Amino acid sequence: MRNRTRRLLLWCAATDSTFALARQRDRTVLAGKCIHCKRKLAVDLEGNALSHETVEHIVPRTHGGTDAVENLAIACARCNQGKGVRQDPRPWSDPGLQAVIATLQARRAERMREPPEGLELPPRPGAPEPEPEADDGPVPRTGRKSRSRAASRRRKR
Ligand SMILES: [Zn+2]
Repeated sequence: MRNRTRRLLLWCAATDSTFALARQRDRTVLAGKCIHCKRKLAVDLEGNALSHETVEHIVPRTHGGTDAVENLAIACARCNQGKGVRQDPRPWSDPGLQAVIATLQARRAERMREPPEGLELPPRPGAPEPEPEADDGPVPRTGRKSRSRAASRRRKR
């Protein structure tokens, strides 16, 4: 599982009041409930999904939704995929999409809490990413280069 996903899952669980520390299969986990169907979900303390946990972006990323914890919730894969397929292609002005977002935002706000004391967490998502170390020399500007190569190919034809 990708690092970013683990970080988001862990922060979702840490800031969701339905999630509590528990022991599962000899592991300490955060166990709580899907934002949609309230099915039991759990992630370990590295943010690994134990079964079908996924990160739900309440305002979809296709509509500019960010990784801020207020915009994140844990959903089981079935609920998340169902919502994504139905809602994500809708235009922003769609009343159905707006209703789903409003409901999820209210539910998420109700569950919001500060992470439990003593829980070790990676940097909070949604905060500005630290600048990459600059000691590897200048970053090649591949985007521009490939565009100009494509342009010269067009000229040769
Ligand atoms: Zn669910």
